[in-house]
Amino acid sequence: MRIVMKFGGTSVGSGENIRHVGDLVTQYSKKHKVAVVVSALAGVTNSLIETGCQAQKSDQVQIESFTSSLLKRHIDATVSAINSKSIQKEVIEITEKSVAELEKVLTGICYVGELTPKSKNYVMSFGERLSAPIVCGAIKDHKTQSLFFTGKEAGIVTDSNFGEATPLMNYTSHLLRERLDPVMEQGIVPVVTGFTAANQDGIVTTVGRGGSDYTATILGVALQADEVWIWTDVDGIMTTDPKLVPAARMLPQLSYQEAAEMAIFGAKAMHPRALGPVNIENIPVRIRNTHNPKNSGTLITKEPAENKTKPVKAVALIKDVAMVNVYGAAMVGAPGSYAKVFDVLGKNNINVMMVSSAVSEANISMVIKRNMLGRAVSNIEIALHERGGIISEVTTEDDVAAIAVMGAHMKGTLGVASKIFNIVAKKGINIRMIAQGSSELNISFVVKEKDGAAVVQAIHEEFNLDKP
Ligand code: ADP
Ligand code: ASP
Ligand code: MG
Repeated sequence: MRIVMKFGGTSVGSGENIRHVGDLVTQYSKKHKVAVVVSALAGVTNSLIETGCQAQKSDQVQIESFTSSLLKRHIDATVSAINSKSIQKEVIEITEKSVAELEKVLTGICYVGELTPKSKNYVMSFGERLSAPIVCGAIKDHKTQSLFFTGKEAGIVTDSNFGEATPLMNYTSHLLRERLDPVMEQGIVPVVTGFTAANQDGIVTTVGRGGSDYTATILGVALQADEVWIWTDVDGIMTTDPKLVPAARMLPQLSYQEAAEMAIFGAKAMHPRALGPVNIENIPVRIRNTHNPKNSGTLITKEPAENKTKPVKAVALIKDVAMVNVYGAAMVGAPGSYAKVFDVLGKNNINVMMVSSAVSEANISMVIKRNMLGRAVSNIEIALHERGGIISEVTTEDDVAAIAVMGAHMKGTLGVASKIFNIVAKKGINIRMIAQGSSELNISFVVKEKDGAAVVQAIHEEFNLDKP
């Protein structure tokens, strides 16, 4: 088989874990042709973003202490992941060069006092640039040939939507095949940085937070893999986040549609856009646990999951969201007023996760990512006051969380919504907004952030999601 394997930040968080990844890849590459996609070491992308933002405020002291601890973490990981002194030396040299380059970039940002989307993407790309050589070294240390590539070197070409870039799939497939096929045919394991790519001008882009999953499915399609395996720190896609509900159960099988729905609504185990490419080509995806490789994980294919009787299959808590309410008597019966609101958000690359409106049409409520709130409100105000004043007020709530209850068989099952809302009411928790997609695959609603976990736990229990 041809398998693309992606190892998430949680699977490469330490040298010891990276050594284990080297071992796993070696075992599978004896029987299969394997290509590897790797994330940054756990927590590194967040710290890069934070330091980029600090640098913008001209905080140079922060840069030096950051880069030296980043260098130390990666050297420590190299030393414990790799036994061979010569491979260690090779990797450390690359690491030192990359960190020195990062320091220059951050210093530049500090002097200019500006972190543009371009420079932010470049800074973010260093997490994977630093992890890939170590993983490649750990594979070589197990006597398996390996070569590492950045997404750009491998041939992933995207549009210029920095931070949420989309691959130009035909061109990308052609380049990936041209560059990686010969490597794989020689029995060499290519290790490609997840998350990062480049636009047509060669400027580094990234495909969205958690986007190494997306890189893996892009490779899966381009290299015509038989399966894509997403290795993480839990057994597969579960009925809810096991960190929130320890009784959460692994779902052995899901359709692309079900898994995508779960990903969009916060099941962190899968990137929301990752299932697009494989769905078209019908390539199975498996979510597997690096710490429990005997378990075959969750298999995602075209077929819906087996249990046809259970209407609710999973529940997710979506944190870091905010609610925007737009009011205006002039919106009532004014054709195109909703379109104008969405047009403004779309043009500013703000994704609307949930929408709800009153029959009176005088109000529309939306849920967006919390970090987009400032951009959303200012742009709505500027654009809609200008365009004939169809809105009178924009209010926001940033201390909210969204809950999504999902299941393909909710469709046509009476009473699911009332049961859900009864559970919430019994807990004395107030619902701020409700939305149900016409697909009826999910019901989602918004509560105050402090109540989110309790609501998820109660729904999980009430619908017996811990039992098959
Ligand atoms: P990785 O570093 O492997 O990409 P992530 O942190 O992105 O890992 O995703 C794995 C985490 O997602 C798990 O540790 C788990 O806590 C969380 N998670 C949230 N919801 C779910 C779910 N429904 N199923 C599985 N994991 C989930
Ligand atoms: N390192 C990137 C992130 O933290 C991509 C990934 O881990 O999938 O978002
Ligand atoms: Mg992830």
